[in-house]
Amino acid sequence: MKLLFEISKKGHFCDLLPELDVPEAMPAEDLARGIALDLPELSEVELSRHYTRLMKRTFGVNSGFYPLGSCTMKYNPRINEDMASLQGFRDVHPLQPVETVQGCLAVLAETEKALCEITGMDAVTFQPAAGAHGEFVGVMLIKAYHRSRNDLKRTKIIVPDAAHGTNPASAAMAGFTVVNIPSNAHGCVDIEKLKEAVDDETAGLMLTNPNTVGLFDPNILEITQIVHDAGGLNYYDGANLNAVMGIVRPGDMGFDVVHLNLHKTFSTPHGGGGPGSGPVGCKAILKDFLPECQVINDGNKYLFEKPAQSIGNVKAFYGNFLVVVRALTYICTLGSEGIRDAAVQAVVNANYMRCQLSDYYDVAYDEICMHEFVLTLQDIKDKYGVTALDVAKALLDNGIHPPTMYFPLIVHEALMLEPTETESKETMDEVIEVFRKIRVVIETDAASLHDMPKTTPVRRLDEVSAARNPRLKY
Ligand SMILES: *Cc1c(COP(=O)(O)O)cnc(C)c1O
Repeated sequence: MKLLFEISKKGHFCDLLPELDVPEAMPAEDLARGIALDLPELSEVELSRHYTRLMKRTFGVNSGFYPLGSCTMKYNPRINEDMASLQGFRDVHPLQPVETVQGCLAVLAETEKALCEITGMDAVTFQPAAGAHGEFVGVMLIKAYHRSRNDLKRTKIIVPDAAHGTNPASAAMAGFTVVNIPSNAHGCVDIEKLKEAVDDETAGLMLTNPNTVGLFDPNILEITQIVHDAGGLNYYDGANLNAVMGIVRPGDMGFDVVHLNLHKTFSTPHGGGGPGSGPVGCKAILKDFLPECQVINDGNKYLFEKPAQSIGNVKAFYGNFLVVVRALTYICTLGSEGIRDAAVQAVVNANYMRCQLSDYYDVAYDEICMHEFVLTLQDIKDKYGVTALDVAKALLDNGIHPPTMYFPLIVHEALMLEPTETESKETMDEVIEVFRKIRVVIETDAASLHDMPKTTPVRRLDEVSAARNPRLKY
């Protein structure tokens, strides 16, 4: 495909900006650029075709099945976009006086209330722009809490080995030492190892439940109690709340702080489309440390307030506001029963696929799962030389986006599937049939699988060279 610069033709143009309605002001001479800006020149139709071509080459949940485990690629209802494009939400400026944007502040306040209800927390900040960003804020809150109590020796954060890679990274970025603990035979927290790991230097534990292999930890209350008894706080990685929303709440499981990914669970655009939103909820003990833009109501109107011992800002203003509008639309569309139903359906769908696929592939932890499950192709690799990557590429040729691959690291040759609640039984049956056919090819013509994909814009990429010698310029 050609770049905009390559299809540019001198003299072509389109008026994308409205007419100037303020006096034109030129920058001071010493600030003005000396050479003209090199911009592509295109007409509106050329521009539109370029992006339509790009769009057709992109795979999204609107193109087909997208079972990306630990990423919740659910369908995003169009009504979210309608709400986010209302002028009163879209055409506002962050520096406008609060009296003129009361509706926008009400959106933040209402969404905060809903998310507190869903998570069992007492306050929420919308500043973080992604899940990992939220994790960083969450561990900074834990740090601020211990500091405020002059409990300065708490420098360690415990993270299980099955955790999302962002957990240890966020803890390390916040200046903590990461203590890794191994999982037990069910992929859950090993209680004895946790007891050995906690001491008076423990600042907290970071955990996701259901965990990364899709299982709900039956010992969750004991786990959070062990950390609390040692003086630490519990952080809940709620990037994927799809299995539990409306059913159980992190706050009731003993967690003190949680981040959510609106771009996973709450049906806002995810991947490519961005931007994201990773709001952080916390219990009252951490509320005073939140970033500076908390919305309050003084009885007459909404205002922004800076919490007393705020950790400061992690993003300009109040985060990606229009993403919050979409999430609130989703929450209001579903209502409390609908949210619960979505979680139930997500779990039913995952278990349906797990049971059906277990006829053809090994399931890493073959027990009732939550919103996702993990296949392991280690035996297939040993017997037929076909890897998880080969199967992922074969799926591409069938119009299916591959599952998450080679994650979590504790499962070899992993394929992690999350169908989500928005897929029908018929769609899942079609996908199961594709998996079955690929299983037949594994036994009859394994070599052909190394050659896939054949129908995509680019064939199999040399991933080693791409990682070792990246060419970062076109
Ligand atoms: C996706 C995910 C994250 C990170 O979220 P980003 O928005 O990609 O930063 C963290 N933890 C878990 C469990 C996730 O699935």
